[in-house]
Amino acid sequence: MTTNDPTPSTDFIRAQIERDREAGKNDGRVHTRFPPEPNGYLHIGHAKSICLNFGVAQQYGGKCNLRFDDTNPEKEDTEYVESIQEDIRWLGFDWEDRLFYASDYLERFYEAAVKLIRDGKAYVDSLDAETMREYRGTTHEPGKDSPYRDRTVEENLDMFARMRDGEFEDGAHVLRAKIDMASPNINLRDPTMYRIRRVHHHRTGDDWCIYPMYDWAHGVSDAFEGITHSLCTLEFEHHRPLYDWFLEQIGDIHRPQQIEFARLNLTHTVMSKRKLLRLVEDEVVSGWNDPRMPTISGMRRRGFTPDAIRAFCEHIGISKFNATHEFALLEHFLRQDLNSRALRTMAVLDPLKVVIENYPEGQEEWLEGINNPEDESAGTRKVPFGRELYIERGDFLEDPPKKFFRLGPGREVRLRFAYYITCTEVVKNDAGEIVELRCTYDPESRGGTADGRKVKGTLHWVSAQHAVDAEVRVYDQLFQSEDPEAGGDYMTDLNPDSLEVKAGCKLEPSLVEAAPGQPYQFERIGYFCVDAEDSKPDALVFNKTVGLRDSWAKAQKKK
Ligand code: ATP
Ligand code: MG
Repeated sequence: MTTNDPTPSTDFIRAQIERDREAGKNDGRVHTRFPPEPNGYLHIGHAKSICLNFGVAQQYGGKCNLRFDDTNPEKEDTEYVESIQEDIRWLGFDWEDRLFYASDYLERFYEAAVKLIRDGKAYVDSLDAETMREYRGTTHEPGKDSPYRDRTVEENLDMFARMRDGEFEDGAHVLRAKIDMASPNINLRDPTMYRIRRVHHHRTGDDWCIYPMYDWAHGVSDAFEGITHSLCTLEFEHHRPLYDWFLEQIGDIHRPQQIEFARLNLTHTVMSKRKLLRLVEDEVVSGWNDPRMPTISGMRRRGFTPDAIRAFCEHIGISKFNATHEFALLEHFLRQDLNSRALRTMAVLDPLKVVIENYPEGQEEWLEGINNPEDESAGTRKVPFGRELYIERGDFLEDPPKKFFRLGPGREVRLRFAYYITCTEVVKNDAGEIVELRCTYDPESRGGTADGRKVKGTLHWVSAQHAVDAEVRVYDQLFQSEDPEAGGDYMTDLNPDSLEVKAGCKLEPSLVEAAPGQPYQFERIGYFCVDAEDSKPDALVFNKTVGLRDSWAKAQKKK
């Protein structure tokens, strides 16, 4: 399948939704949700879930809610709540008026828990955490009943109310579901529903000192919101019986269906907010939106486009098997999108001065440059030319081999959009370093064509007089290994060369106008964008988004 394929991929989730619709389940409604915990910034793995949840809702004329799963106050923050919304919008999805917070349901969770207690389906346990763990058993040994399991309904109701009222220390008691301590599924061995935790919550303040556990809060929230298909990652497969059990006990409540799919994993990346937070806290990166981070905000700052991320997510599709995709595949989709939309410009990252001796001093010309050969509507721009230019240092060799089709003493090359030039002299400083080239130009070759003379090389260049200076940041993978955790701690696998800062780069003057979010191709080098955070009108900063060479497409051809 290609990125431009308009037919959405069919997968087992869509197949299930279609069967449900045909059977008239939920009156044919499709209602999904994206439920991030606001304990970090979203990453590319979340993009997969966002594309899936909002995507199927769109496809079947349904709805998708954004729900902050914010019942674990110690790690949560409003900064995260805001960034998550910004990132989802940027990806191109809209929850309309359906922004919810699980913390808004705390009273309703409480009431539902009281019902379970009344029905003898939940009890207050007072074992200490360690004993409780011992009693839980293992995968091959059944657990043991807690001595508190037979508390009466009245006692449980009283204790639970006092837990809420703050009568007990943190950790003194928990509320547990009363299911089966011998269940082969450990998740069903009387899982904890509530714990006492005196922590300030970013929305409910100090109203609560008991907080519900994920398994309890999540399914019930889905039910409250009328979710039809609750899509989650594979590690929740063994929680599904619990998800269903809770809703069955509540009884008179909407019944969503949980369906699991495989997480997205990418090479050279760690993908968990907790692990990414450590990179931020240890100042290994400049922040959550560091352009090397696999976060949506980092990728946006790096110059990724929402279209490229969505095309990638559609391409990899949905499956039941955990797999790791190559980062190069994501970059392949990025290049495809940038190729169609990036404006072509010229920039010299490692400048070498060129003086054209037969070009009149003080003269300048404005030559025509094509903005995007892939898109005629992008038009043309004027590029200034003069007697002094910069070319890329790597485009000149004093003693070039035959196959080097760039500049060397006595050799002739074409300057893009401009003229043919021939190198006549190499100027060096006292240390023997090349500081300048002297050249001549052929006035007849304006626009880059002449009398049929064979000139193989075409170089990019910038007029010295008109050039604007910029800092350019060139990135490499943040981690050296494909699997940064293969050798243990991912922090030991950091790539020391993941950021190269190039100062004194020379850009063509049209780039002064570069707006954040607008992709540019620096001809022959790669795709770049202005850094939305650090760039200033008098101190431009550009990020390299990705190089031109598509290693993934190349590898596919060889196969
Ligand atoms: P993390 O470990 O990064 O915190 P999480 O699953 O705990 O991930 P949540 O905020 O709970 O993060 O995730 C919101 C939704 O995004 C969940 O439905 C989760 O399954 C999904 N999700 C998270 N990571 C991935 C991933 N790598 N691939 C696909 N979906 C993911
Ligand atoms: Mg999490």
